[in-house]
Amino acid sequence: MRSKQEKAFAILNWSEAAASAVIVATYFILVQTQALGAGELLGTSILTTSLGLIHIGYVVLLHPFLKKRSLVASSFVCTGLFSINVAALIINTGGFTSPYYALWLLIVLLVGLYRPSVTYAFMAVTTLYAASLFLTHTETGAISNIIIPIITTYIAGGLGILLWGSHHSRHSETENLSSAQSQLSQEQLKSEIVIRNIGDGVVVVDTNMRIQLFNPSAQELTGWSESEAKGLDYHVVMPLAGEDGNPLTADNDLLTKSFDKKQSIVRDDVTLTSRSNKKLTLSIMVSPIFDATQKASGGIIVFRDISSAKAAERQRDEFISTASHEMRTPVAAIEGYVALAINPKVATIDDKARQYLTKAQESAQHLGKLFQDLLSTTKLEEGKLPNRPEVFDMTELVHSVVDELHFKAEKKQVALVAQQSAVSGGTTVQPILYVLADPERIQEVLTNLVDNALKFTEKGEVKISIEGNDKTITVGVHDSGIGIAPEDLPHIFQKFYRIDNSKTRTIGGTGLGLYICRQIIELYQGRMWVESKPEEGSHFYFSLPRLSFEQAEAKIKAKAAAQAGTTNQPIGAKTQPTVK
Ligand code: ADP
Repeated sequence: MRSKQEKAFAILNWSEAAASAVIVATYFILVQTQALGAGELLGTSILTTSLGLIHIGYVVLLHPFLKKRSLVASSFVCTGLFSINVAALIINTGGFTSPYYALWLLIVLLVGLYRPSVTYAFMAVTTLYAASLFLTHTETGAISNIIIPIITTYIAGGLGILLWGSHHSRHSETENLSSAQSQLSQEQLKSEIVIRNIGDGVVVVDTNMRIQLFNPSAQELTGWSESEAKGLDYHVVMPLAGEDGNPLTADNDLLTKSFDKKQSIVRDDVTLTSRSNKKLTLSIMVSPIFDATQKASGGIIVFRDISSAKAAERQRDEFISTASHEMRTPVAAIEGYVALAINPKVATIDDKARQYLTKAQESAQHLGKLFQDLLSTTKLEEGKLPNRPEVFDMTELVHSVVDELHFKAEKKQVALVAQQSAVSGGTTVQPILYVLADPERIQEVLTNLVDNALKFTEKGEVKISIEGNDKTITVGVHDSGIGIAPEDLPHIFQKFYRIDNSKTRTIGGTGLGLYICRQIIELYQGRMWVESKPEEGSHFYFSLPRLSFEQAEAKIKAKAAAQAGTTNQPIGAKTQPTVK
């Protein structure tokens, strides 16, 4: 079917060709009949006849082929050839006073079909021709003969632009619309292909939680077919439960939560009971869908079965945990016996043997630390790390760690100090900074940080600072050691991350210490971070929520009451609360 544009160009091209045919025929008839003299051949000449023949030849022989490449370009050539011929006729027959000028006006009116700039070009050519006439004829009558045709040309051009302007905008609107429609259907086709072939289950529900889309992978995982599932409440087709086995409905419903939060929820600990009663562990992402007015219009659930990956992970963790546990005992025995062997009070050995055994002791200690860290890591990840939270004073704990590691620091000739607290009237006031956590775990964290600081500091000092505001207590471990490069800082708390350079290569370690520290601190709603510059030293910080004196007192009272089976045990005024 021919488009409107094609039809318009066909009419234009054939009517121009017909006009050329009339010009050519006029010439031949007049010459044949010799009805008029050679100068009165109605302005036709050998030139205009040849141009007419070329034009007709082009329209008949070439245009049908070339228009397939570009209809507009080829039609434009037709019009171009015809206009040259008309211009020649006009010049032959007295310029602007020529009767052929009407034909020119018609051309100016019609060429807007191509685009407005073509009309402007025709108007410009006419103006140039007028200017050349104006320069050669200055008589008053001649001038009005120039100005009037010029004005009529402009009117014809203006009308043409008006006439075709609405056609162009309609045409471009239709073009835009049809290209948008084809783009949309292509996009829809692509999405359809992706959703049908993706390995993940994809379920789309409306605001009433009724299933609208259920892809083949969702069918495979749940055991429901698309026709059965469509229109049902998604809870029926996908009974989900949390890690604790509680169903994810009502308040725990993932979709409701994602609507409330207006964001996606991602979980990888969700269990799905399939239609055949099989339990699958899912990695699931539930996202709300919003319409243009930001109103929830449904939800999308994307999920995959990670049961086998979870089982493999559990097996691996169990293996590491058992292996570390089993190997820690003999390593501890080796450490103990080697310590006895190099103790001059217990055994007599020569210097060479002492040297070898000291090295063996270092390696055994390293191995022991590795097993201990591995064990702590798996226990932490399984949530089985011993955790007995109680109220204790952080200042006291910091001082006990300094006392404990004093000897190690002295051996390295590095000063280890706890930052001086507020001084009042010549006596040091140590503010009581209460926290609720397992003091053993926090001591482990602080010891690890100070150990690292001593390990990576050759000279200067290691300082522990402690400060508290109403809400939090912040402990900092500052050293003047090798520091950490900016590119390593974001990774320093990752599992097994160790910086490998000429300075750290000879220093032992497992890369697990800081990972464990951060996990422990986060267990008690705290935060851990680091600031460091190479060669300038490092500053490791952790902060924990602070308990007010009243809160601490109440907790200690409650604990004491639970232990003694009595209430009303007075604490406070005379005796400080029994804090660790
Ligand atoms: P490791 O057992 O290797 O010390 P950590 O997790 O405690 O494991 O530390 C990870 C890495 O972070 C270390 O190998 C070391 O490169 C870097 N690091 C930790 N503490 C410091 C510090 N105070 N100064 C410089 N580098 C440090």
